Amino acid sequence: MLRSGRIVTIRLKPVKTTDRLSYQRKFVRVAPHAFQFAMSNCHAEWWPKFEVGWTIADIMRIGILSRNPGLYSTRRLAEVARMRGHRVEIIDTTSVAVHIGRGDGDATIPQQLVASLPGMTETTKLPTLDAIIPRIGTSVTFYGLAVVRQFETAGVLTTAASSAIACSRDKLQSLQLMSQAGLPIPRTAIVAQPEALFSAIEAIGGLPAVVKLISGTQGRGVFLAHHFTTVAAILRKVTELNRQAIVQEFIAEADGRDMRLIVVGGRCVAAMQRQAPFGEFRANLHRGGSASAVTPEPATVALAVAAARTHGLAVAGVDLVSTRRGPLLLEVNSSPGLEGIEKATGIDIASEIVRYVETAPSRPQPPRKSRSK
Ligand code: ADP
Ligand code: MG
Repeated sequence: MLRSGRIVTIRLKPVKTTDRLSYQRKFVRVAPHAFQFAMSNCHAEWWPKFEVGWTIADIMRIGILSRNPGLYSTRRLAEVARMRGHRVEIIDTTSVAVHIGRGDGDATIPQQLVASLPGMTETTKLPTLDAIIPRIGTSVTFYGLAVVRQFETAGVLTTAASSAIACSRDKLQSLQLMSQAGLPIPRTAIVAQPEALFSAIEAIGGLPAVVKLISGTQGRGVFLAHHFTTVAAILRKVTELNRQAIVQEFIAEADGRDMRLIVVGGRCVAAMQRQAPFGEFRANLHRGGSASAVTPEPATVALAVAAARTHGLAVAGVDLVSTRRGPLLLEVNSSPGLEGIEKATGIDIASEIVRYVETAPSRPQPPRKSRSK
């Protein structure tokens, strides 16, 4: 039964007016009585031309947390969600202020999300949202996590839980989690004292070794070291900068190639293979890598899906390398970029994400409002 305010797809069947058959798709919001009136008064001969009445979803108010509305992924998600009839707010993560704690008379508002919007001197209360799609950049991880957490507290569905984002941003924690879940990863170690480095390098299979900042992205902070002294020097510098790094087995047989799979709602929806440019071992597109569509083996797909599930991420970009001992997981991204992979594969990943939001099985329940002051 149609409910008021639902989105109904009216798909026009191919009409042979020209030689070219063309589908038209329209998403319209209809009140149920108007829809039923229109259908019951529609002349029978029109019926074959319509495929009517599959309801897609409730109209939702979706917030995309992103610092830059001009970014490809943000634009695509907003465009697709609007096309599907939803109301979309692109919210600059850092414009959101989180007010917690109550004052007199605030008994029913244990927390508020307010935003200082461009051109406004005062903050304004954010509209109530049904769902958020966090696109939190690594430069604002800490603040972004606070904002996502607050939306969660308010019972808003999120495609990435704050705890999942936090875990995927910490490469060591993420690898520990996957290793604990029995998922294959390259041999990895972390040491605090220089004296422990020699046996750590032995444990990962010797040199050369990959040294990775725990919180790097786009290939930044990922180094290949051929000599023990180089590994030690990088780690010393990292410590001086008050950062942490892991040492990892170098998968030479990858030969600068890796795979990026996008998992949405427990399904792999797209996959690309990336090849590093000559003289580079990192396949990131931001490091000049080239991308092509690939059909991954079922075992690789299963691994990517398991990695996303282990992190509790509904939307994830999973990086893997192929080896003789099977695929190995490198990392899991909570805000995977869509541009490279949509262009390489021609797959509309933004729609997959919005469709997931529409049909997500459960939304966390908001905490009960206290009646007492
Ligand atoms: P980032 O978050 O910066 O993308 P990754 O762990 O995904 O960090 O590493 C970046 C790239 O470096 C990978 O896509 C892969 O091509 C290469 N790489 C990373 N780890 C290894 C490794 N252990 N052996 C070989 N290549 C690696
Ligand atoms: Mg990566």
